[in-house]
Amino acid sequence: MEKICVAVRVRPPVSLETSGGVFWKVEDNRVSLHRQHDTPVSGTSYAFDHVFEETCSNARVYELLTKDIIHAAVEGFNGTVFAYGQTSSGKTFTMNGSADNPGVISLGVKDIFDAIQMMSNREFLVRVSYMEIYNEEINDLLAVENQKLQIHESLEHGVFVAGLREEIVNSAEQVLKLIESGEVNRHFGETNMNVRSSRSHTIFRMVIESKGKDNDSSSTDAIRVSVLNLVDLAGSERIAKTGADGVRLKEGKHINKSLMALGNVINKLSDGVKQRGHIPYRDSKLTRILQPALGGNAKTSIICTIAPEEDHIEETKGTLQFASRAKRITNCVQVNEILTDAALLKRQKLEIEELRRKLQGSHAGVLEQEILKLRNDMLKYELEREKLQLELEEERRSRKERDQCVREQQMRLQNHNSLVTSSGGNGSHSEEQNSKRQSFCEECSDSNGICQGGAFRTPCSKAAPNAFVVKRSNYSRLPEYSPLPDTFSNVADEDTWLKMNKGYIADLDSLQMTPATKVQSFPLNDGTPGCSNENYRDVQKLKRQLENVTEEKNEFQRKYSEEKILNARLTGEISELRQEVLVIREIPRRLYESVVSSKDFYEDLLCSMKSFAADGESSTAKKLVSISEIGSSLFSTLETNFLMAMDGDKSFSNNDSLVREQCKVVCASSLWLFLTYNISFRNEALTHLVLIAVKGCAQEEESTCWKEKLSSELNTIKEKYHGLEKDLDLNNKFLETSKEMYDSLEREFRLLQEERDSLLNKVSESSQTLTMVTDQKENVLKDYNTEVEKKKNLEEEIKQFSAAFACRQKSLVSFHSDLKSKIEKLRAQNPVSVPKSRG
Ligand code: ADP
Ligand code: MG
Repeated sequence: MEKICVAVRVRPPVSLETSGGVFWKVEDNRVSLHRQHDTPVSGTSYAFDHVFEETCSNARVYELLTKDIIHAAVEGFNGTVFAYGQTSSGKTFTMNGSADNPGVISLGVKDIFDAIQMMSNREFLVRVSYMEIYNEEINDLLAVENQKLQIHESLEHGVFVAGLREEIVNSAEQVLKLIESGEVNRHFGETNMNVRSSRSHTIFRMVIESKGKDNDSSSTDAIRVSVLNLVDLAGSERIAKTGADGVRLKEGKHINKSLMALGNVINKLSDGVKQRGHIPYRDSKLTRILQPALGGNAKTSIICTIAPEEDHIEETKGTLQFASRAKRITNCVQVNEILTDAALLKRQKLEIEELRRKLQGSHAGVLEQEILKLRNDMLKYELEREKLQLELEEERRSRKERDQCVREQQMRLQNHNSLVTSSGGNGSHSEEQNSKRQSFCEECSDSNGICQGGAFRTPCSKAAPNAFVVKRSNYSRLPEYSPLPDTFSNVADEDTWLKMNKGYIADLDSLQMTPATKVQSFPLNDGTPGCSNENYRDVQKLKRQLENVTEEKNEFQRKYSEEKILNARLTGEISELRQEVLVIREIPRRLYESVVSSKDFYEDLLCSMKSFAADGESSTAKKLVSISEIGSSLFSTLETNFLMAMDGDKSFSNNDSLVREQCKVVCASSLWLFLTYNISFRNEALTHLVLIAVKGCAQEEESTCWKEKLSSELNTIKEKYHGLEKDLDLNNKFLETSKEMYDSLEREFRLLQEERDSLLNKVSESSQTLTMVTDQKENVLKDYNTEVEKKKNLEEEIKQFSAAFACRQKSLVSFHSDLKSKIEKLRAQNPVSVPKSRG
């Protein structure tokens, strides 16, 4: 929205004589009425965009008030400049000027052609017309024959005067010459107030069309059409003052009427958009032609001229009030473009490119790039993960192989155990031996750790069984843990077995309490910490945990940003596992050392027993010999096994427990011997045996500690995964919002395209209809012409007929008169009465 620019120009006084009353004083952009002693008259001060005092030249008025409008017109904006004021106040002087003080019109015309010269990227076509509104009739000043022209309105041209001559012009000189020729045709008249008073409103109109030159890539092919109106109004006048009568009076009435209509329009427009209501543009030809300039699509300037003389104060006040109201009017100005199909296409292409640029610059574009980058990262991490998984698989396979080997070893040892049991027992003695062996075991596993006979009491024997029970309870609490059935095949009853098969986690303590069969086949097996089983379970558990991790990894494949950290952690785990494997591989060597030392001790023990037995019974000596044989066979087997394990790198920590088993068998046999023969026992030997058991427990604790560490690390990894998942969800949501925005923009764009298409369709339909109507019109016109022709022919015929008829009538009348005279003659000659005919 743009306000109308309003200025006031004070004409120089006609005579220097002053009446000594009041005068108009100009200060900056304010004009006010002052008394002689420079005191302002209240309520008579007016402010405008510009106020020009008497000495101001037309060039200055043009510069400040009109130049912008002229330049805007060259760029495609409509523009209107008009002068308003009482007669003889200097309107024509402002618009037309004089030879030494050219007016707004001639300055503007020159400026337009200068501006056109400057715009080298566009082609221009300028047309000019010049008209006057005299007594509410529009006359063409460039073609005298064009009188009483009509105003029309169309979508394409807006309000226009039909039949007005438009001259295509190429230079300012050409235009000025045309104006000059038009001025000759203008109506002037002498009044009391002005020797050459304008008795009409004149409108000088320039239509400026322009189009971007073909070689200009930025042009859109659109044609800009702007209309520039430079209007010199006839002055309002008071009939009494002008002394008009006759023709002048009639002119004056029309002038005043149209100026009143202009005043009404200005009043309505100054009310503001909401209160406006109907604007009476159609009340006069002037307001109708100026419609686009007032409250429409045009940049408008009004120059209100005032006469400074005291006797014109009332008219001046009226002009100033008119100017004040006009100042409140706002126009909506825009470039006028006619879009050809090619121009439309080109413009849309530019718009699409603009949209695309916007989209590329928006966050969606950045996000897309980021997504691409993240996708690449994800692929990279996935590759790394797969590599690690392969390594893990490798590790698992080697573990499985080791497990298998250990199981085989275990089986072999069990076979040896059964050999020992079967070879050592016969009849009641064997049963006794078994029961004693059992009681020994029970005593060893007793929480108090008190052995029968104070001589065998040792503080170290307490810890091992207790720790073992605690450890098993811990296992049973782990949710993923499920004991291997084969480990308990000899001890679990049917119900427990079923429960285990269903994944139920049986309390191992309760398993220990199950029926007595448990000790019979493997007397020492249950009471010993099953190191191989424990480790096997650990391995299984680790396997499951690792599998879980792998599953989680698969599940959070898209959580790529932190994958690297996870991979690093997994690598750490693997290295830890490797370290553990190294520790496990150390075990056979340690076991081998234990076996060697146990063997030494055993041999010492046997030697001393043999020395005791040499004095005793021969059956004891025999037993000692058999024990010695069994022992050496056991030790040699163990040595061989461990050596094999060491050499083949198939060692397993469970061998330690096997050694302990064997040692306990030997120990039990020895104890039995000592108890039977009251031999004092060497404490060091027993301590040695117990130490081996303690070592096993220490390993268990170490293993538990390691597992706890591993599970805590796994928990940390899980937490990190969850965090990642949340972050990823947020990112996805953000991406979705961006996509939605993008989609809605696209939808909007499509809708606009559809709208445009439908408009184009409508336009083409309308043009088709127009063509049809034109055709019909032409047909009708043809018909009309033929009808007219026919009518003419008929008229001709009628004329001929009438002439013939008249001729006949004439001859008939003469015949009738002849007949009458003849009858009269006959009557006179023959006085016999003749009856009157009825015709
Ligand atoms: P209007 O068109 O308003 O009826 P004119 O423009 O015909 O009045 O001016 C009347 C007379 O006053 C003319 O002779 C004109 O030369 C003179 N005149 C008007 N304004 C000025 C001015 N600013 N400077 C000098 N002479 C002026
Ligand atoms: Mg005039």
